Amino acid sequence: MAFWFWHGLRNGVQSTRYPHTSESAAGVSPGHPLSTRFPSATDAARVAAACPVEAITAVDDLAQIEHKRCVYCQRCHFGGTERVHWDSSFEWTRPHSIRARYDPLPRDFSASLHIIVVDAGDCGACLNEVKQLNNPLYNMHRLGFFFTPTPRSADVLIVVGPVSENMRGPLLKTYEAMPNPKRVIAVGACAITGGVFERTFMSAGGVGSVLPVDLDVPGDPPPPLAILHGLLVVTGRKQPVPHGMLAAGALK
Ligand code: SF4
Repeated sequence: MAFWFWHGLRNGVQSTRYPHTSESAAGVSPGHPLSTRFPSATDAARVAAACPVEAITAVDDLAQIEHKRCVYCQRCHFGGTERVHWDSSFEWTRPHSIRARYDPLPRDFSASLHIIVVDAGDCGACLNEVKQLNNPLYNMHRLGFFFTPTPRSADVLIVVGPVSENMRGPLLKTYEAMPNPKRVIAVGACAITGGVFERTFMSAGGVGSVLPVDLDVPGDPPPPLAILHGLLVVTGRKQPVPHGMLAAGALK
């Protein structure tokens, strides 16, 4: 006990300052691919063909990334001679629906937001990243975010995993037990689209086919700061990324 006391005094606060300052420490984000224009349509088609989950569509000389499907394997950036642009940020939360604008929770929730997490058939990767939010480095309590095991006291439902058949019922019961207003965040490619599991007799193919989803945090898994960005978006303290904006930023 005394060791940690003196350790803390000697090293000071180690928690990230995000969102008060930007965070660029090594390893905080694996980054993500950006839609990229190539010199020829053949190059764009070649990079699209290399993607293992068909997350890249070649439209003439443009390799267009569908972030909902991307599993962040980095093959399109490091795997061949044609390389898409790569962005090292982590603020990539976006509205689930392409058509809908995200409507944040009232400002009052900023001081105390309670989050319930449902593992709906997750492999463990996304769940592990969500758990990191409680550790001293990310320390989400400083922002007024708290995990709760009780749906009755939860404002936000985070879902990880593609929603396996066995988890469909418990997930629905959790959502229905939460009071209004409430928001749902799909974390990771599996929760957003079903990922590599897609829609099968055992997988719902993403949370959106079971519940109304408000926000997506793409990634496979997304890093903790990307999930933290999603929670900040929930209360309107950060803005979501509009659909298509990352693509437009990469065009040269
Ligand atoms: S990172 Fe991997 S999954 Fe994502 S677009 Fe590139 S090749 Fe496809």
